[in-house]
Amino acid sequence: MTDLRQVFMPCVINTEREKTELGVVTREEDAWAVLRAFFARAEDTDCISATIDVWEVDYVGENPRTELAELSRRPCPICERSSFWSEMGEANFRGEKQSTSGRCYRLECSAWVEPNNIEIGRFDCGWPAAQWTKRVESFNLGIRGLVEMRGAVTASGRRRRSTMSKELMEDL
Ligand SMILES: [Zn+2]
Repeated sequence: MTDLRQVFMPCVINTEREKTELGVVTREEDAWAVLRAFFARAEDTDCISATIDVWEVDYVGENPRTELAELSRRPCPICERSSFWSEMGEANFRGEKQSTSGRCYRLECSAWVEPNNIEIGRFDCGWPAAQWTKRVESFNLGIRGLVEMRGAVTASGRRRRSTMSKELMEDL
């Protein structure tokens, strides 16, 4: 006998604010896996945000749904393709949400910004293709750090060729 109380629904939302459910799963990690797989091939879609909704099962009453996570799409600071998805945090007193982490879902790029897991309030950003990482004070400075990394690699193209192929640079 299973003790099923909640189900997780990964969803994407397009520019018309239309929501598309991508599945119903019983484990949160499976909902994340569904979204990650979608993001990897979402570049040609008009989806601009995504959520993981949690539905109470065998629940009678208002508001059976809560939103576990919300993600938003933006141009990647490294490859400039629209394949960077960032996770949004809690709304502040003005109702504004700030990004808490983000990643480019193009495998060739995979640029990222994540909270540092030791120092609370600090962030790390990185670009695996060029073997760069940097510690910064905020998510937005992480995005700026990635832009600077791209600039540094472009400026010293010859020196960086050992860690990054010319074909990859042109593709980015
Ligand atoms: Zn990218």
